[in-house]
Amino acid sequence: MATPLGEYPTIRLAHTLGVREELTRFGSRQIVTRYGLTSIPVRRPAEGWTSGTVDCETCGLRIDLRVASVPATVRKRWQRALFTLAAAGVAAFFVWFFLDGLHHSATETAGEALLGVGVSVAGFVTGVAFFFYSLIKQSMEDGVRLERPEGHRLYKG
Ligand SMILES: [Zn+2]
Repeated sequence: MATPLGEYPTIRLAHTLGVREELTRFGSRQIVTRYGLTSIPVRRPAEGWTSGTVDCETCGLRIDLRVASVPATVRKRWQRALFTLAAAGVAAFFVWFFLDGLHHSATETAGEALLGVGVSVAGFVTGVAFFFYSLIKQSMEDGVRLERPEGHRLYKG
């Protein structure tokens, strides 16, 4: 599901150095962001969450953060996994809703049919968007929260 949890977080503090647009070899454009990365030297507590600070190696700013224990991080990962599953369920429900609507289309007015299709598409797109958002959040979950990011973010990799 995710990287094993050690004594220290593996996710790092990222200071954005620059963003530029590049052409891929297929001719499309992509946004490339470069980060200055700093390891988070805050040991996980035995239980719950602890507060700590990390000095950004790029700008020297002191960033306050909170780090979760291994059990608390595992719980967070499970919560995120359930949320991802729920979002997939919502998307699947709207596929069913759409297909079910096809059976009734003979008895519906054009307006009702259009409303059904609109609701199905909107619900499906929302479910899929939440699914991918949640999947990314789930893969990034390392039990670290920045208190005041001040232009910084967390970066996995
Ligand atoms: Zn910085």
